[in-house]
Amino acid sequence: MKQALSLIALFAAMPALANETRQLDAHEHGVGELNIAIEGTTVLMEFHAPGADIVGFEYSAKSDSDRAAVEAAEVRLSAPLELFVMPEAATCTVKSAQAELEGEGGHDDHADEGHAEHQEEPTHTEFHAQYMLTCVAPDALTEISFVYFEAFPNAQEVEVQIITASGAKVFEVSRDAPTLALEH
Ligand SMILES: [Zn+2]
Repeated sequence: MKQALSLIALFAAMPALANETRQLDAHEHGVGELNIAIEGTTVLMEFHAPGADIVGFEYSAKSDSDRAAVEAAEVRLSAPLELFVMPEAATCTVKSAQAELEGEGGHDDHADEGHAEHQEEPTHTEFHAQYMLTCVAPDALTEISFVYFEAFPNAQEVEVQIITASGAKVFEVSRDAPTLALEH
């Protein structure tokens, strides 16, 4: 329990996860970031991707179809096991999942439309998602298949950082090589 707490604290302290200080304009289009912490049967994941990768635009959603695209993306990003597919033998289930678009001044609140001129147009937006999974057999977690690239055609690469009891590792998973192999 003590170890689980310290890992989670470390995870929260990772620079990539510090949303408050994160610069949205520092992201690279085509490149997402996935942070994973594995402790026992608990798997925590945090994912960021440019709006350009996920919905193909980073301006404030204006039309109904823009808004529909954002909502559809949030729904898709809320199903982590369909995007980051884990071996069946690991028997992973989603305990919590949330996804949202960051960088929108007033979100898409209709009440704001009348005085949109007071809001700054975002030049960059990012989707952010957080997941908590339970994997009954974490030793069987030997690879993660990034079906994510099939779901989002503009995405080219994901920088992955994994923290386990044995330390932290960094990987690059790309559209051309969409499978992340994990050692145990
Ligand atoms: Zn951008």
